[in-house]
Amino acid sequence: MNQTVLITGASRGIGRASAVAFARNGYNVAVNYCKSKEKAAALADELNSYGVMTAAYQADVSDKTEVEEMFRKAEQELGKISALVNNAGIAEQILFSDITEEKWDRMFAVNVKGAYNCTQAVLPSMIHEKYGRIINVSSMWGISGASCEVHYSASKAALIGFTKALAKEVGLSGITVNCVAPGVIGTDMNAAISGEILEELKENTPLNRIGTSEDVAEAILFLASDKASFITGQTLSVDGGFIL
Ligand code: NAP
Repeated sequence: MNQTVLITGASRGIGRASAVAFARNGYNVAVNYCKSKEKAAALADELNSYGVMTAAYQADVSDKTEVEEMFRKAEQELGKISALVNNAGIAEQILFSDITEEKWDRMFAVNVKGAYNCTQAVLPSMIHEKYGRIINVSSMWGISGASCEVHYSASKAALIGFTKALAKEVGLSGITVNCVAPGVIGTDMNAAISGEILEELKENTPLNRIGTSEDVAEAILFLASDKASFITGQTLSVDGGFIL
């Protein structure tokens, strides 16, 4: 029987590439989206061509009720969820002194509480099954900190702490919890960065290129696979060597 993965923020970017990678490898895929309904529906159609079960589910990951409803529906339609990818995220470049309380709270509501909501929704069933894979999408800025992205960097650092702590708590239940920490990846999230700055970031990357969503998706797929069965609580950098 196919395993089922739920990927948050799968309508675009890294989440989308991960959905394709999992479907290619025979997983049923629950595609979560917040606003991009058409993109998510088109992706679900595309994934059907891999012969797996798939459907798109709308939920703002920061909203516990919407998240619980999404998991209920997805489990009913696609089967028990054995892997969760907490990928949905927002970013913002702004001086620390200009970060309002509202902006701070929203950053943490999506990037950190979103992972809490989704993990809480899926964990009872993973514990019952004595098997599960949870992969959180952090960022190299959560390790090193980025100027003008204090709330983003802090939220991504929080995910690393979340990962380590939960890995210790649920290891005995056969559940692994890991993180990926992408570097600069060519997605909509970086669309506002000027060509000049992107060139500079590329030059500071030992592998001398901007990463692709597929680069990150392959690392996520690996952490979900049986090949990674003795790896937990780790943060796998996918950044071309930017942070060493
Ligand atoms: P992206 O292209 O901007 O896509 C973001 C995704 O998150 C979209 O599918 C969006 O869904 C979803 N999303 C946003 N808010 C949501 C919410 N409240 N509830 C549910 N879904 C929500 O971003 P990306 O570059 O692929 O980033 C994916 C993850 O990788 C993020 O956690 C990001 O922080 C992390 N990351 C990215 C980079 C990079 O360089 N791109 C580097 C390090 C880490 P809708 O379109 O449906 O609203």
